[in-house]
Amino acid sequence: MEIPSKNTLIEWDKNHVWHPFTQMKEYWESEPLIIEKGEGFYLIDLDGKRYIDGTSSIWVNVFGYSKEELIQAITEQSRKLPHSTLLGLANIPSIMLAKKLVELAPKGLNKVFYSDNGSTAVEVALKMTYHYWQIKGEKKRRSFVCFKNGYHGDTLGAVSVGGIDMFHKIYRPLLFKSYKAPSPYCYRCPLKLDRNKCSMECVSIFEHIVMEHKEELCGVIIEPYVQGAGGIIVQPEGFLSKVWQITKKNNLLFIADEVATGFGRTGSMFACERENVIPDVICLSKTITGGYLPLAATITTDEIYNAFLGRYEEFKTFFHGHTYTGNPISCQLALANLDLFEREDLISKIKEKIEFAQKELEKFKDLPNVGEVRQGGLMIGIELVQNRKDKKVYPPEKKMGQRVILKAREKGLIIRPLGDVIVIMPPLAIDKETLKKIFDITYESICEVTDKHN
Ligand SMILES: *Cc1c(COP(=O)(O)O)cnc(C)c1O
Repeated sequence: MEIPSKNTLIEWDKNHVWHPFTQMKEYWESEPLIIEKGEGFYLIDLDGKRYIDGTSSIWVNVFGYSKEELIQAITEQSRKLPHSTLLGLANIPSIMLAKKLVELAPKGLNKVFYSDNGSTAVEVALKMTYHYWQIKGEKKRRSFVCFKNGYHGDTLGAVSVGGIDMFHKIYRPLLFKSYKAPSPYCYRCPLKLDRNKCSMECVSIFEHIVMEHKEELCGVIIEPYVQGAGGIIVQPEGFLSKVWQITKKNNLLFIADEVATGFGRTGSMFACERENVIPDVICLSKTITGGYLPLAATITTDEIYNAFLGRYEEFKTFFHGHTYTGNPISCQLALANLDLFEREDLISKIKEKIEFAQKELEKFKDLPNVGEVRQGGLMIGIELVQNRKDKKVYPPEKKMGQRVILKAREKGLIIRPLGDVIVIMPPLAIDKETLKKIFDITYESICEVTDKHN
C-alpha cells in the first residue's frame, strides 16, 4: 500500500483520529508528530528525524525496536496460527506462557486468565474477586478499598477504583462504590505530616477504613511500590507490606496491579517481591510482550479458582472473556520476550541502570523549579514547581510539563508529562550512553523552559 504524503497524513489524522488523553483542539493547533519507524531505542519520524524513546511508548518497550527475536516470534507464530479462541479450546503458546508466568509469579499464584490490556486485567481481577465472595455466600461484599492517586485503567470497573479526580470524577454516577485510602504522596502529604518524623499515619487511616467496612469489602487494590499515572509516587519503605498485612489480617483479598511495575521495571521481577508481599491476584500487562503487541494476564490462586468449580447447571462459571483472549501470537511473543530477559540477564542489568539513574538525577535536585525527584527503579518522576519553598504549583494554563516535553522533542527525545511531573520511563534494556542522553536533554529542557517562563 502506498503511503500518502506527509501533508495528507496530517490532514487525515486531524480529520479522523481522536487521540487518547489528548485535548484535540490544542492538538490541531500544534505541529503533529508522525512516527514512521523504530530502530533500537529510537523512534523516527516522517522526515527521518530520530528521537530517543524516553517513555518506552508509554511504559511498554523493553529491548527496543527491530529486535530480531521478537519479530521472529511474531512472524513464525502468525504463519503457524494467528488466532484461535480460548473459549473452550486451547493453543500451544497460551499454555507455555501460563506455565512460565506461574514460575515467575509470587508463590501460590497458579492460575492465569488472559486478556488484552491493563484495564481488562484489572476488570478481570475485580469481577473475579467479587464473584468469588458471591459464590462463597458472602453476598454483602461488593466494594473495594483503593488509594487516592491510584490508576488502574479506563474501563468503568477500573475507573471505579481509580483515584485521580481529573480523570475519574465525571464518571462517578456510573461507578460502583469504593473507599479511597490516602495516597502515600509524601512530598505533599495528605495528612500534612513530615516524612522524616511520621509513623505512616496514612496506613492507620487505611486500616480504619478496612475495619469499618470490612463486612462489605471484597478486597484491596493497589499499585505496589509506585503509583504510576498518579505522578510516579513512590511509596515509603514498609508501606506496601503493612497494607498487605492489614488486608490479610481482615480476611480480604489483595489485588496487586503490577501492570506498570511488573517484569523488572522497579528492579525486581515484580514490585511485590521487594517487601515479600504475596498477593491473591496480580494484574500484568505493559512490558509483558516487550511492547510489540497487546496482552495481559490476571493470575490468581487455586483457592479463588477452585471456588468457581462445579457442574454447568450450578452456573458458577466465570462468565468473562475477550475475543482475543490468549492470542497465540501475543503469547508466543511474550515467551520470546521473557526468554530474552533470562538470556540477556536483564534484571541484574536493570539494577545497574537504576543506580546510574540515581546518580544522574542528583543534579536535578538543585534546580530552582524542581520540587521533587522521585525514582522507583526505572520509573522516574520530576515534579516541577513554581516555587520550591512553599511547593507552589504552576497555574495549569502555563502547561509547564507540556512545554518541557516539547523542548525535549526539539532536542531529539520523546517523553510525556503527567501534569507538571516529567516522566522518564526508559526501555528496560537501554544502554547507559542513551540513558545518559535522556537525562542530559531532560535537564537542559527543564532549565531552558523554566528560565524563560517563570
Ligand atoms: C497503564 C496501566 C493500566 C491500564 O493499562 P491499559 O493497557 O492502558 O488499559 C492499569 N494499571 C496500571 C498500574 C497502569 O499503569
